[in-house]
Amino acid sequence: EVASGDALVTALIGAVHDTILAHRDELCDLDRAIGDADHGHNMARGFEAVAAASDEIAALPFGKALQKIGTTLVMKVGGASGPLYGSALMAAGKAGEDAPTSLVEVVARLEAAVDAVKQRGKSDVGAKTMLDVLVPVTEALKAGPADPLATARGTAAEALEATRPMVATKGRAAFLGERSAGHLDPGARSSELIIDAVCDVVEG
Ligand code: ADP
Ligand code: MG
Ligand code: MG
Repeated sequence: EVASGDALVTALIGAVHDTILAHRDELCDLDRAIGDADHGHNMARGFEAVAAASDEIAALPFGKALQKIGTTLVMKVGGASGPLYGSALMAAGKAGEDAPTSLVEVVARLEAAVDAVKQRGKSDVGAKTMLDVLVPVTEALKAGPADPLATARGTAAEALEATRPMVATKGRAAFLGERSAGHLDPGARSSELIIDAVCDVVEG
């Protein structure tokens, strides 16, 4: 059973913050190969600010809390990932005030988040971005799997690996053209890390 209200938000912020800090260098290394080597630092700066405001955020209703996390990321992260994750969380937060109590409600928030990233990034699946993890996970959960946590984790891991051969057509990596192939997308890796962290919290 999932913790409700402020305990859930506090746990989610803590888990995502921890995993981003633990993988900060790895995210920078991935971005060094096909970008500008700052993805770990960008994400860490954003989630440091979110963690610093954790008590204040956790006092808000669930939907408002997600929106506040989103606006914090937009304000604090310099790179492309800030506005993209920020828009995703703002849209997910606007999908309803109360914490989700069913998989259907989780999927509705994920769909809102994905649509926001597509719009803000003028992007879609296949461009070698975070969407190449976020969209397959959303689709897999939409099918109503028997074990949503295992499905989310497994789909995210496979989808991340599937970004390796892709040629980037959005973001900095697109400047490399064909040379972007052969590397994981850093934003796809951070999305996978966030999904895993959320699953850990939900699993308890
Ligand atoms: P920057 O590229 O500005 O340095 P980051 O390194 O923090 O920003 O984030 C890069 C990640 O952002 C990429 O790996 C990719 O997943 C994601 N990204 C970049 N542009 C887009 C876009 N237009 N649509 C979706 N995701 C994008
Ligand atoms: Mg970068
Ligand atoms: Mg940058």
